[in-house]
Amino acid sequence: MTKTEPKNGKFELLVLPYAPDALDPIISRQTIEFHHGKHLQTYVDNLNGLIPGTAWEGKALEDIVKESTGGIANNAGQILNHNLYFSALAPAKENNAPEGALLAAITASFGSFEQFQQDFEKAGTTLFGSGWVWLAQKKDGSLVITQETNAGNPIQHDLNPLLTFDVWEHAYYLDFQNRRAAQLHALWPLVNWSVVASRLEA
Ligand code: MN
Repeated sequence: MTKTEPKNGKFELLVLPYAPDALDPIISRQTIEFHHGKHLQTYVDNLNGLIPGTAWEGKALEDIVKESTGGIANNAGQILNHNLYFSALAPAKENNAPEGALLAAITASFGSFEQFQQDFEKAGTTLFGSGWVWLAQKKDGSLVITQETNAGNPIQHDLNPLLTFDVWEHAYYLDFQNRRAAQLHALWPLVNWSVVASRLEA
């Protein structure tokens, strides 16, 4: 996957590729402003405060996530996870679905796109506590759904992360309150499948 390098020793807040109200009403402007502007900003500030004087100075975000532990791993993981999440969303599209090689890989691994959606929602709904549900690619090209608690990312298990939905309560509480399953089900029109497809490795 593409590496995220620090600039002048600092990681920067992801610039969203859409306006803060572009995903409304599925993800409201208010949720984007808190989730991206406050939660993600805090992880960025925390990591930039923790790295100086450690072996992680100048290292790419992905390498830190793979190899570090403790507070550095948690904050780096949350930055990488949110970057992958926010950058694979886009304004809602009707009949939104993957195409080409990505659709073929999903069909080969899960039977159909609809079956994949069901399995993915179930994995997100049944993940206990805070975490992330992922679509990831194995070295043999096949795809798997994984559950990662807290700040976990599939690259820590040598998998290539393609798509993630955030199941921390802060991702959905303002718009869906306690209804995590309803929020996961509502997100499909917002997935930017061309971004997800661009993450496939040959
Ligand atoms: Mn989050």
